Amino acid sequence: MFEVTARGRELQARLHSFMDEHVYPAEGVFAEQLSKADSHWQVPPLLEELKTKARAGGLWNLFLPDTRYGAGLCHLDYAHLAELMGRSLIAPEIFNCSAPDSGNIEALTLHANDEQRERWLQPLLNGEIRSAIAMAEPVVASSDPSNLLTTLSERDEGFILHGRKWWVSGACDPRCKLMLVMALSHPEAPLQQRYSMVLVPTDTHGVNVQRSLQLFGYDGAPSGYGEVEFDQVWVPEDALLGAAGKAFEVSQGRLGPGRVHQCMQLIGLAQRAFEAMLKRAADRVIHGRPIGQHGLTQDAIARSRCELEQARLLTHAAAATLDRRGIRLAREHLAMIKVVVPQMACTVIDRAIQLHGALGLSQDSFLAAAYAHARAQRIADGPDEVHVAALARLLG
Ligand SMILES: Cc1cc2nc3c(=O)[nH]c(=O)nc-3n(C[C@H](O)[C@H](O)[C@H](O)COP(=O)(O)OP(=O)(O)OC[C@H]3O[C@@H](n4cnc5c(N)ncnc54)[C@H](O)[C@@H]3O)c2cc1C
Repeated sequence: MFEVTARGRELQARLHSFMDEHVYPAEGVFAEQLSKADSHWQVPPLLEELKTKARAGGLWNLFLPDTRYGAGLCHLDYAHLAELMGRSLIAPEIFNCSAPDSGNIEALTLHANDEQRERWLQPLLNGEIRSAIAMAEPVVASSDPSNLLTTLSERDEGFILHGRKWWVSGACDPRCKLMLVMALSHPEAPLQQRYSMVLVPTDTHGVNVQRSLQLFGYDGAPSGYGEVEFDQVWVPEDALLGAAGKAFEVSQGRLGPGRVHQCMQLIGLAQRAFEAMLKRAADRVIHGRPIGQHGLTQDAIARSRCELEQARLLTHAAAATLDRRGIRLAREHLAMIKVVVPQMACTVIDRAIQLHGALGLSQDSFLAAAYAHARAQRIADGPDEVHVAALARLLG
């Protein structure tokens, strides 16, 4: 129904082989290298080796539709590739398509000036550095961005940035050299012009990553989720990304195609959980019959198949709408997938865990980490309720 181009199909086949040959076998090695490293925040060498391989194989920056920077694929072609990459939690970074870098790269391609592009965009496109985006704050309800308190005030031909952010994905990574920080610059202006986005090098005096947060006990190493203090941080005038007071524009620009990418990656993860469910249902015997021959298991399997396919088709429709009608007319689809996909992924992965018994909860299966990741997506990029409310508003 949603046709992929010949180039999209060819990339799909190559990505499929790369995942089989290099990524799935690397998952265990990645965990082992991480556990044996001197520092927990040391990057497993395997990750950089696989990035080099993926780049050499032309499987690099596939998410960027602009041919000056990336593969120049349409959203629908890329949606299929994102599903494949999403099957492994370590895969997106290997192909330089992982959040928050992918969204930050998109923001930089849209809003950075030439100098900012040269300093930040190029190393990100090359996978030499990583980046973060700092918006949420511990003391206010951050799903309403008009609550954010971190300030940006003019001082000495630049600005002073002051405040505290948290859950800054990637902030603990030693390769994280740049943070996009959203701060209150024009408190008296109408909401849409009240906040600015600044580019802050992580080695700037006053930027302090104070601790790493844990997601159901997972610390996300080597990238992590940081609580970051900005203590009277001075940045020059040209640290502004986009115009002053236009942080919402910059942050929204990151989120259109990015929502399709993120949802397709989650569908990939849920699909892998579903396949594990099928295998377990066939292999494990209870009361003389494989679990899959018990009615309740059949129900879990059949429903998961239906829900996965519904979510996949909806997300393909969102990608096709972006391609054919542009982001403004795709808003309804983009809100719908954010309402539907993370919830579906949680449900399907949860059923897979149930079928695996205690194994599904342990570190011997990918399912527990997959669940934690999927569950976080119902909050991380705006809670479910925000997307439901946005959809309701669009529907009038
Ligand atoms: C794994 C992970 C990664 C993250 N990465 C980043 C990052 O890189 N950068 C960053 O800036 N932030 C990041 N965040 C933070 C994330 O953006 C915020 O947690 C999110 O915006 C919600 O804000 P909050 O936690 O303050 O919840 P609150 O705003 O306090 O909301 C609490 C609850 O209120 C309810 N609610 C909210 N809005 C409505 C509504 N309109 N109607 C009804 N109910 C509502 C929901 O149930 C919601 O969960 C991350 C979070 C997680 C978990």
